[in-house]
Amino acid sequence: MFTFVPEYRFDTFDMASAEFLKSIGVKGIVLDVDNTLEPYENPLPTEKVVEWFKSLYENGIKAAIVSNNGKERIDLFNSEIGIPAYSKAGKPKKKYILRAMTDMDTDRESTILMGDQIFTDVWAAHNAGIRAILVPPIKDKRDFLTRFKRLLERPVLRKYERKKRKGK
Ligand SMILES: [Mg+2]
Repeated sequence: MFTFVPEYRFDTFDMASAEFLKSIGVKGIVLDVDNTLEPYENPLPTEKVVEWFKSLYENGIKAAIVSNNGKERIDLFNSEIGIPAYSKAGKPKKKYILRAMTDMDTDRESTILMGDQIFTDVWAAHNAGIRAILVPPIKDKRDFLTRFKRLLERPVLRKYERKKRKGK
């Protein structure tokens, strides 16, 4: 797999429905929180997120959180969902993704990661040998560093589009 090129791209997290995940053999999903499920300023999951988690659960798909954000944020966010959750995970390192896979009792083929950052989330997934779903950041910052990062992402996204066109 190309290091930075995601296997799938969706406009929003909930387009990765339980039905879709099942159709590609996924039994467990590793999740980024910030700007993937909720913007930074939302401390708790909204109704839409909770409903999505419920449908995963009802379809026997496990989930875990692996975030680079701090423990307080992640524990509060997870307080009502109650899934395995790791904060300060240091993505693109694979350590906590592997730990989440142990928690979910899944293997490389049956696990996927979803996140909004190519050089953090997608890279981490591929370091762990699992597939990745990329979603656009819910609320993108407009500072210089973010714009620079988006610029670096462009060739990666072009490569994704080329791969998709070839049906790979
Ligand atoms: Mg994020």
